[in-house]
Amino acid sequence: MHVTTRKMQPQKHIALVAHDNCKSHLLRWVLEHKDKLIGHTLYATGTTGHLIARESGLEVNCLLSGPMGGDQQLGALISEGKIDMMIFFWDPLNAVPHDPDVKALLRISAVWNVPVATNRASANFMISSPMLSEEVEIEIPDYNAYLDERLG
Ligand code: PGA
Repeated sequence: MHVTTRKMQPQKHIALVAHDNCKSHLLRWVLEHKDKLIGHTLYATGTTGHLIARESGLEVNCLLSGPMGGDQQLGALISEGKIDMMIFFWDPLNAVPHDPDVKALLRISAVWNVPVATNRASANFMISSPMLSEEVEIEIPDYNAYLDERLG
């Protein structure tokens, strides 16, 4: 796979998602780190986003609810290079109806080299990184080279 780079701006586009049993953990985490999140642009799946906006007062771009297509909307934004990092507290102990969408979201974030935190400890590491407020260059697949190769 050929690679190229993408620049993340100091003001990051951060996606927030939590399954139902994990929403209280994510909400607590957001409230703890509100001062750091406030300067960034937040996106979230529907229920998570409305909950965070209501409880924290932060501005959140709310997509559809996860099971109704929100995970797929987020995956599309990631594919378009519009999301810089994702905090995704998925539930490791309970099945969800949209498991294929969850898997697809995690897969597409791996494809596009988007940093993902899946629990509070990893989210703490991510939010403490100096990269959060710096311009950061990340490697991404070179889509044009990929296409050229396939077209022969
Ligand atoms: P929700 O979706 O924020 O609408 O609950 C989360 C998810 O399951 O992806």
